[in-house]
Amino acid sequence: MRKVTIFGSTGSIGENTVDLIAAAPERYDVVALTGGRNVARLAEQAIALRADLAVTAFDDKYDELKAALAGSGVEVAAGAQAVADAADRPADWFMSAIVGAAGLVPGLRALRHGTTLALANKESLVTAGPHLMAEAAKYGATILPVDSEHSAVFQALVGEDIQAVERVIITASGGAFRDWPLEALENATLAEASAHPNWDMGQRITIDSASMFNKAMELIETKEFFGVHPDMIEAVVHPESLIHALVGFRDGGLMAHLGPPDMRHAIGYALHWPDRGHVPVERLDLAQIGSLNFRVADEARYPALRIARDVMETGGLSGAAFNAAKEAALDAFIAGELGFLGMARVVDEVLNRLQRDNGLSCDILTLDKVLETDHLARKAVKDALAR
Ligand code: NAD
Ligand code: MG
Repeated sequence: MRKVTIFGSTGSIGENTVDLIAAAPERYDVVALTGGRNVARLAEQAIALRADLAVTAFDDKYDELKAALAGSGVEVAAGAQAVADAADRPADWFMSAIVGAAGLVPGLRALRHGTTLALANKESLVTAGPHLMAEAAKYGATILPVDSEHSAVFQALVGEDIQAVERVIITASGGAFRDWPLEALENATLAEASAHPNWDMGQRITIDSASMFNKAMELIETKEFFGVHPDMIEAVVHPESLIHALVGFRDGGLMAHLGPPDMRHAIGYALHWPDRGHVPVERLDLAQIGSLNFRVADEARYPALRIARDVMETGGLSGAAFNAAKEAALDAFIAGELGFLGMARVVDEVLNRLQRDNGLSCDILTLDKVLETDHLARKAVKDALAR
């Protein structure tokens, strides 16, 4: 039996992971599940999967979780520290599916077992890519990408020499506003930004898809995970979301990965790797689909993409600043304190300010520096909003 732990089990990626594991209970021994405010669901999952431990990230939810699991034999804990401590319990496979920079430390701690980290939490790579990859190498751990585009690139690279790669193309659905006139974007509402045309995901990543901040993060994620030069990485709008990524080789060939827009494919790939196991996703009927479309990912419509180019060029702490500023700007948009296009303006402004006042380049990235920069950037967004 494989020991597994899921960070963020109550989220969209977490639920899909639970789904796959619950379908084969004889194969998995669930060590820990962690969630946030939805402790009723966390308790249900812990009982159904017979987990040893259930952790809510929020201290004020401890009593509720404790009550929901009374008599079940499942251990209970609460708080950010307890979430990270859950990573110290040995497991063969960890799913990192917390949303935001909060996913970084648990993932780093999990790497110390030298086993497998299935990484949905792209913020880990954006904020601290070089540190995360160095820690994985140090402990002999394997990181498997779970973001659909990066899982697709990973699969297209099996058996290939990375030196023969000329370009990596990740696709973008274009999000909720891909067909909106540019002038209308300024007044886009929270409800409009929270409806994705193709994928069913958590609210934050759905809004990030509409603003293309998600794709911006994924460009950086590609650079950090695969170690390819930023000039080799492209994004293209592909409204059907059936091709997830393509890898171009020096002989001109392109390897594309296709699949239905269902995260269980990428999660299942990481769960069964290096084997291919059965995954219950829809099978594509190409004749029925008929045609696939592609459009330029326009940096005028999507300023986040241009900002990502700057971040990749600066490197160092700029990813940590970028991610934290983006998270804080997104919080402000959700709270109604900032307009839709205001998010990119604030992120740009904060990055420029931190670059000028603090300098964001640095040779060796440490967790302390990353966390300090994260804090500075969030504060800078608050200051910018107050002005
Ligand atoms: P979600 O909002 O649906 O779920 C997030 C999970 O994290 C929940 O279990 C929540 O309780 C927990 N959580 C929230 N705040 C926390 C905190 N401060 N500390 C600890 N736990 C906390 O998010 P999601 O859409 O499942 O996304 C999870 C991650 O996967 C994100 O990094 C996202 O970018 C990435 N991702 C998601 C999808 C998708 O289809 N949803 C696709 C690709 C990548
Ligand atoms: Mg993705």
